Amino acid sequence: MPPPEMRTSGDPRRGAPHIALLPSAGMGHLTPFCRLAVGLSDSGCDVSFITVQPTVSSAESRRVAALLAAFPRLRPLDFRLADFDPSAFASTDPFFLRFEAIRRSAHLLPALLAAASPPVSAVVVDISLVSTFLPVLAGVGLPCYLLFTASAAMLSLCAHFPAYIAAKTTAGVGDVEIPGLRTVPKSSIPLPLHDPNNLFTTQFVENGRILQKACGILINTFHALEQEALDALNGGKVVPAGLPPVVAIGPLKPVIGCERGSPLPWLDAQPARSVVYVSFGSRTAMSAEQMKELGTGLERSGCRFLWVVKSKVVDREEEVELEELLGEEYLERVRERGLVVKGWVEQEEILGHVAVGGFLSHCGWNSVTEAALHGVPILAWPRLGDQRVNADVMARGGLGIWVKEWSWEGEEKVVRGEEIGERVRELMEDEGLRASAARLGKEAVKAVAVDGSSGKGLAEFIGKL
Ligand code: UDP
Ligand code: UDP
Repeated sequence: MPPPEMRTSGDPRRGAPHIALLPSAGMGHLTPFCRLAVGLSDSGCDVSFITVQPTVSSAESRRVAALLAAFPRLRPLDFRLADFDPSAFASTDPFFLRFEAIRRSAHLLPALLAAASPPVSAVVVDISLVSTFLPVLAGVGLPCYLLFTASAAMLSLCAHFPAYIAAKTTAGVGDVEIPGLRTVPKSSIPLPLHDPNNLFTTQFVENGRILQKACGILINTFHALEQEALDALNGGKVVPAGLPPVVAIGPLKPVIGCERGSPLPWLDAQPARSVVYVSFGSRTAMSAEQMKELGTGLERSGCRFLWVVKSKVVDREEEVELEELLGEEYLERVRERGLVVKGWVEQEEILGHVAVGGFLSHCGWNSVTEAALHGVPILAWPRLGDQRVNADVMARGGLGIWVKEWSWEGEEKVVRGEEIGERVRELMEDEGLRASAARLGKEAVKAVAVDGSSGKGLAEFIGKL
């Protein structure tokens, strides 16, 4: 079903629209905004990119610098936040605290935008920030759209959750039945949402409540992957009072022309589709014990592998060397078949490399959409947040397999190397899965073409401004 008409917000006499983009903290939020910025600019829009310094992770500040250097036509807008005291909150998650710091500075944005020339036509705000920014933007007559950086399945949870919380009669959060769609089992609900007093829960509920007031919701997904969820959202099933148009514009295409960093020459030397790429994203750390088991598993799989090790949530805190984490002996033993790296790699380039035949992934939504775009099959090991909801979407879409029993945040369980090795081998040997991931990859490429469903979605959004 096509989305309903996007609400018109612009003045038809104006020339190219000037769109200001407000990303939130963390690579998972920043990355799709960088891609949207370039997509809009390539389509003839003036684009201002609002930045908050210093960023939580150094990966974010490098990404912003690389974006602005590569695309000087994007206008940076440096957003100075109001004073914020993180110790006033029980949360220790540096990303959620930064969401809150930005959210509490919403009143300062109009002055920044007022100085922009040509005048700003609309603002696209990250989902995590929308409940405080939308009213402020409405107050100065600026249309507020939002970019939902995760799956349509996750958007349906976000949209329904306030009603679920209001209606429930028992303590705690159980299975959440999304009207017109599927039930999200209790075990897949992001852990913070089980605690009504968690900072993330407060933000999530407030943002979910205000969705209806946005001019439109752009989402980094595509019809061939999430038709049912997009139909349910746009058909008034998930929120009976209706939502603004939910417009799929993904998978947003990678944009940064990267330098050929360290893993790429190694990949060049490997046979086609022989390497499993292993990464748990930019903010999911793994315990030392689990990391050792994963190392054993990769070794036992008999497959070639490229493994990005991450032991801390925030990259600035990574201090321990690989030798200390995994042992010199291990690194020596696997040298022939495996490349183990610590620190940032250009995942966009790795997933597009012909040597990569599989992806052991935490299923952060950007990772899922990047794998989809390249038709690379996934072995899902979601660890926290929205990752189980995303893993479910990607498995239903034929992109990969998800071992539901593997450990999840808050659990002490350690998944043994033997089990990991078997599953990795299965992933790499499954020809049927490889074919179905390739099929989805073709659909993803079609979707983002100018005449594809997502290409048209983006054009429609621009046309309404
Ligand atoms: N990423 C990368 N190199 C790394 C780690 C992550 O390029 O070493 C990118 C990845 O390609 C994706 C983003 O960072 O675009 C991470 O977002 P995702 O939603 O996959 O997971 P998160 O990090 O938010 O958990
Ligand atoms: N999210 C949301 N409302 C919010 C904040 C986040 O719906 O107020 C969604 C977000 O798009 C993602 C999930 O909740 O799907 C987890 O958010 P988080 O910032 O932890 O995601 P990550 O950084 O791992 O991408």
